[in-house]
Amino acid sequence: MSGNSILVVEDEADIREMLSFALERAGYSVAEVAEAEEGLKRLDGPLPDLVIIDWMLPGMSGLDLARRLRRDQLTADLPLIMLTAKGDETDKLKSFDVGIDDYVTKPFSPRELVARIKAVLRRSSAPEGGQLTFGRMVLDTQSHRLSIGDTNVHIGPTEFRLLEFLMRHPERAFDREQLLDRVWGRSVYVEERTV
Ligand code: CA
Repeated sequence: MSGNSILVVEDEADIREMLSFALERAGYSVAEVAEAEEGLKRLDGPLPDLVIIDWMLPGMSGLDLARRLRRDQLTADLPLIMLTAKGDETDKLKSFDVGIDDYVTKPFSPRELVARIKAVLRRSSAPEGGQLTFGRMVLDTQSHRLSIGDTNVHIGPTEFRLLEFLMRHPERAFDREQLLDRVWGRSVYVEERTV
């Protein structure tokens, strides 16, 4: 059911460890970084399925990181969960304003966080299905069928991924490196993890 990858951006090592442990046990593959800038670098490669961001980070704050991700077309829809030690309404409102999918107030139980992650992933994957269209080209992302006008066109799995990626990001140019990373997943996400 899961097997999803999660990037954790959290400067406190013990919380990072606790998260990795809990999330891996729940079946997710986890990568962790301690700073927002590192997170951005990491997100330049293959994208995870969800990012957990701590509000209070040294340097760029978690909130600014979330803003940057939302502004970039490539990460605009990336599911984000914010960890915050502050519980007050202003902060909650602010994070929803930025487009955070959910937030979890510290201290939290791993079980609660996993439940939130599941809910966010369920919501975010729902609109992923269905059809992408470009001109007369229709790509069904569930059956992986491509049709152009009335003609069905056979495509292989990699062609499908490439086409899906390009159709999800129209009006944008990508260089070879970016396509290798994002479509072929050259540097496999979990292999890159550093502790
Ligand atoms: Ca922190």
